[in-house]
Amino acid sequence: MVDQATTTDAFSVLESRGVSRRSFMKLCAGIAATAGLSQLAIPRIAEALEQSVIGATSGDLYPVIWIEGASCTGCTESFAQIDTPDVATVVLDVISLNYSETLSAAAGWSVEEAKAQTIEAGNYVLVYEGAVLEAWNGNALRVAGETGNEALAHAAASANAVMAVGSCAVNGGWCAAYPNPSKAMGVQMFLEKEGIDTPVINIPGCPVNPEWMMQVLVDVVMLKDPSLVKLNDFNEPSSLFDQTIHDNCPRRGHFENGEFVYEFGSEEEALGYCLYPVGCRGPQTKAMCPITRWNNRRSWCVEAGSPCIGCCEANPNDPGDNWVQVNTPFYNRFRDLRIGEFKFQPEPVAWVLTGIVAAALVVHGFGMKKTGRMDGGAPFEPIRKWDKEHPERSIGTYADPVTGGPVISEELTEENTHHPSAPADVMVANYEQEAGGEK
Ligand code: SF4
Ligand code: SF4
Repeated sequence: MVDQATTTDAFSVLESRGVSRRSFMKLCAGIAATAGLSQLAIPRIAEALEQSVIGATSGDLYPVIWIEGASCTGCTESFAQIDTPDVATVVLDVISLNYSETLSAAAGWSVEEAKAQTIEAGNYVLVYEGAVLEAWNGNALRVAGETGNEALAHAAASANAVMAVGSCAVNGGWCAAYPNPSKAMGVQMFLEKEGIDTPVINIPGCPVNPEWMMQVLVDVVMLKDPSLVKLNDFNEPSSLFDQTIHDNCPRRGHFENGEFVYEFGSEEEALGYCLYPVGCRGPQTKAMCPITRWNNRRSWCVEAGSPCIGCCEANPNDPGDNWVQVNTPFYNRFRDLRIGEFKFQPEPVAWVLTGIVAAALVVHGFGMKKTGRMDGGAPFEPIRKWDKEHPERSIGTYADPVTGGPVISEELTEENTHHPSAPADVMVANYEQEAGGEK
């Protein structure tokens, strides 16, 4: 067998890894089939792979490792649908996809060896799809003797950058929804906990939009320096995630005019009015869906008649802030209000406040009843306590039926009417005299 350490020719390198020319061409055919390409693309694939075989001197494509975390593989599926450039161009002309559990035709030892050599050589980008799982002592997602978390930490430590694709990779996504038994989280948070400071580029979405992923890949490949990609506070590309869906929505005019859909199947829906009352999260969700659209720019959620359900909302610092937990129940017009960890919607809050007020009124009523303040009013004291204790500064007149106080006698009423500012001690004396010395 050829010694890999001394060879630079691609086929010799492959041969040194135990890959025959025949199995290599089978691999190319497999890639073509996976990418939905015709058999005519196989020579191009072979050519590109020859150029990018790690260890060969002729290839200069940017190496990429794509690791699958806890996911439905939807982001890979989404990426495979891209058409400008198509996935073959991406995989063959833009990057050297050296490892992908889903897209690689090779399997087993040879593909794991390709990953190991790529990590050894350095200067590559790691694409991570899916959530990171901390439960079960990190033993989930074990491949080739490494747990999923070990594989991520190992590959991320030497990468130029990590692209966390899809909302699951950004903060756990739906995997992290309450009660989150698998302790799912995003790549950025996991790497921070592990003390790995490789820059992370977050591209949320469920699944990721292939055009966005492509844009970032091209940026990274063209710039050769991932740190030049302009990111926002969530480490998302600013060009893609700094505007809300609502900012660019074609139904925005209806929103401004107060023209809303309140019920699916209604005339308002047929007129294409704004979907906010039936749960649209466009005002809260930052993404470029109305501009880039989906399915090769054919349409997108709101254009297809569905409210945006906020699948691009993903706070990389908080798995509990995943888009499923935040936005369910879908088709509910109110967004959660939040105070710290607590999340609630205005309607339940209104009901709780109404209940508290009603209970307070009932308690108040019982209190009134118990103190005898019902049916004709409370038995006011004959003279105010304060006035009695501070006669020189008294403020009561005691004959005034409005301010209360007993009308002790016609004479006293007459006297207080004529002397409204009579000192309290005089009134106290008068009262006590009237009451026969009773205090
Ligand atoms: S449909 Fe949604 S995103 Fe569009 S204007 Fe209405 S609320 Fe905004
Ligand atoms: S419009 Fe909303 S729900 Fe649809 S893909 Fe974009 S962020 Fe996700």
